[in-house]
Amino acid sequence: FMSKLPNITTSIFSVMSQLANQHGAINLSQGFPNFPEDERLLQISERIIRDNIHQYTPMAGLPSLLKKIANQTLKQYGREVNTATEMLITAGATQGVFTAINTFVNQGDEALILDPSYDSYEPSVLVAGGKPVRVSLNDDYTPNFNRIESAISVKTKMIVINNPHNPTGRIWTEQDFETLETILEKHPQILILGDEVYEYITFSQPHISFNMRPKLVERTIIASSFGKSLHVTGWKVGYLIAPEHLMFEMKKVHQFLVFSVNSFSQHAISEYLDVVDFSEVSKMYQRKRDLFQNLIENSRFKLMPCDGTYFQVVNYNQISNKNDVDFAKELIVNHGVASIPISVFYNDNTDRHMLRFCFAKTDETLIAAANKLNQI
Ligand code: PMP
Ligand code: GLN
Repeated sequence: FMSKLPNITTSIFSVMSQLANQHGAINLSQGFPNFPEDERLLQISERIIRDNIHQYTPMAGLPSLLKKIANQTLKQYGREVNTATEMLITAGATQGVFTAINTFVNQGDEALILDPSYDSYEPSVLVAGGKPVRVSLNDDYTPNFNRIESAISVKTKMIVINNPHNPTGRIWTEQDFETLETILEKHPQILILGDEVYEYITFSQPHISFNMRPKLVERTIIASSFGKSLHVTGWKVGYLIAPEHLMFEMKKVHQFLVFSVNSFSQHAISEYLDVVDFSEVSKMYQRKRDLFQNLIENSRFKLMPCDGTYFQVVNYNQISNKNDVDFAKELIVNHGVASIPISVFYNDNTDRHMLRFCFAKTDETLIAAANKLNQI
């Protein structure tokens, strides 16, 4: 057989987490919280596990969960979403992204991906038989619209936009959306895949969702995930929102990729959504970002702007000339702190001596990590 993904190796997140465990390092690499889950979600979970909830949910998702996401989308972004025709519960955003790309990208179609980019986009395009076209962001990780516009061709089927952005922690402004709208007016064939998994983690301004862009919604598929918003990355429950003509096709693929998502976690999340306040999520992470930034601001690591997500990018020019992959390994082995090198998120492994630290951790973990980083 011919490999569909000949150049793909083990994901950097697994590699770094494993190396961290092996050396007993503090793991600020892979993005997941290490603080205890909300007692209210635990109580709901304990109670409902004894209910009769253990069989398949409807293919597109548990109706009560769909309804609550629709209510939240209306409240947060002012968009009315039809639960029957415009929504789909997915096994995490990863499956949502894969489904969206594999539904619409055909053999030879091009998909624009903005670098540094989350690691699942390119393989999803390759499995679909499409051609990933990687376009670098500016040096400060804001979008470079000249490059985006020049990368568009008659074959461009999709542009993938992750906002708030992993790994850089930057977010899109009103002006960015307006520029995108102007560019895309000339290209009606291009679909947008908006990865908004960090929608409830923004600091410098409220999140601007594609749900709020009437000029774009008709061609946009939004992917999100409760993994980030409810601190349950291992539950792997996410969702897609898209207009009916797009959702209709994605449901066909979803039907044979997973059919329906884990029933227990859909029931638990649905109940929990009655009590949870999403505005607390940004506040909690802003406090953690500020704590981590204050703790290492006098170190030799230089902090890059962090407007959202739970990732802080730092530059280590003052410390080492090593490339970022080697330096990240050295940081684990010699100094006991694990991070993610940013070069792995670029097509050509552009190395600008940047590392990503995840601050979704207990204060004790952040303090212990900062103590180590301050000694370097
Ligand atoms: N997109 C981005 C930008 C992410 O950071 C992640 C998770 N780390 C995902 C998608 C995947 O989300 P899930 O774990 O819900 O599949
Ligand atoms: N999204 C997480 C991160 O960026 C990791 C997800 C994964 O391990 N696949 O760290």
